[in-house]
Amino acid sequence: MKLIFERGREGQRCTILPACDVPVAELDVPKRERPLRLPHVSENELCRHYTELAGQVHGVNSGFYPLGSCTMKYNPKVNECAAALPGFTGIHPLQPKHTAEGCLEVLRRTEEMLCEITGMDAMTLQPAAGAHGEFTGLLLIKAYHDSRGDHRRNKIIVPDSAHGTNPASAAMVGYEVVSIPSGDDGCVDLEKLREAVSDETAGLMLTNPNTLGLFDKNILEITSIIHDAGGLAYYDGANLNAVMGIARPGDMGFDVVHLNLHKTFSTPHGGGGPGSGPVGCREFLREFLPVSPFGTPKHTIGRVKTFYGNFLVVVRAMAYLLTLGREGIPEASRNAVLNANYMMEKLKDLYPMACDTACMHEFVMSLESLKHETGVSAMDVAKTLLDYGMHPPTMYFPLIVHEALMVEPTETESRETLDEAAAIFREIWAKAHEDAEALHEAPSAAFVRRPDEVRAARKPVLRYTFDE
Ligand SMILES: *Cc1c(COP(=O)(O)O)cnc(C)c1O
Repeated sequence: MKLIFERGREGQRCTILPACDVPVAELDVPKRERPLRLPHVSENELCRHYTELAGQVHGVNSGFYPLGSCTMKYNPKVNECAAALPGFTGIHPLQPKHTAEGCLEVLRRTEEMLCEITGMDAMTLQPAAGAHGEFTGLLLIKAYHDSRGDHRRNKIIVPDSAHGTNPASAAMVGYEVVSIPSGDDGCVDLEKLREAVSDETAGLMLTNPNTLGLFDKNILEITSIIHDAGGLAYYDGANLNAVMGIARPGDMGFDVVHLNLHKTFSTPHGGGGPGSGPVGCREFLREFLPVSPFGTPKHTIGRVKTFYGNFLVVVRAMAYLLTLGREGIPEASRNAVLNANYMMEKLKDLYPMACDTACMHEFVMSLESLKHETGVSAMDVAKTLLDYGMHPPTMYFPLIVHEALMVEPTETESRETLDEAAAIFREIWAKAHEDAEALHEAPSAAFVRRPDEVRAARKPVLRYTFDE
């Protein structure tokens, strides 16, 4: 594909400006030695450029996108209509508050709805992503212990079935991370948890449903073990998709929770943002919340994001919440769980599941035996799916499952789509036994086939070098 710099030629442009009708003034300022090298293309060329780029990626609008732990569900277009209203897009972050009352009302009402859904007493919409929410939530926990003069608590317990950002966030806040293993059932090993807690425990971070797609059946016991040790319980609710409107972290004993609006609450996701990772807490932590448009809490942890957070993301989430309402929210969760279990049942005779129990909104299969029998790996299957117009599931995660593929169909897919996807998986399984070589070579049709991911991450080429 040609880059935008390689298209068009000097003099081509997209706009036709009226002729200049005032004298041209020479400015007495430092000047570039040569003109800035911007692309010169016509509007037609520009459209083709972006359309070609769009054709090289697979999005939710291109086809099934069952990326586990990420909830790539369809975002209703009505959210975009709400976010495009001039009253929301035309505000300036520095304009007087009394002229932005409508926007503050959006934040307030969304906070209220999210408090109700999570069972929390207070909520901040400032954090810009899930991991940013974790960081904010952990700062609340730290501020709480510090305010009590309890400075020994320097450890955060994180089960090995947690999302990878959990230990990273704890380390960012300066905590020592204590990892505890899962039991054979995929849930937290309670004995190991009891051994791990001490008067140095600041808290525990629980991803629930965990990265095996399981709701921890001992959740009430887990929070009470932590509380008995004097720690606080943190709920990673990025994937609240499975439980919203049905079970509330607050009722399970959690003190802090974060959500991902750009997963569960159907705001666009990917490409690095903007996102939103609201943090909810109990009453006794309210005074530590970050600075927000509503003011500066007494013992605030400070500012985590300027102005109103990612405001237009919140507008979209509010539109989603109001569209679904009290009946629609739990219905969405039930469908997410139903879709995952339906697909799991259609595959489990060929693809062994990491846990042979009912799942929540996602399931994890292990391709270890397939690899053993045929040499076809989880990577090969994932790459082959691209040739069938389907985005691969999450690969090699969670780390505790060998040759893992983690599938999250989401509630927005129809039964027909799930049937088709299951048929594709079954066909690939058969192919693996007949012609493994073809699968090692897949994908044949995609623009980027098998990049060297390590080199792409370590030595990214981000600058265009001109010939002359
Ligand atoms: C996605 C996710 C996160 C991190 O959210 P980001 O917005 O990507 O920072 C944290 N926990 C879980 C369980 C997630 O699925």
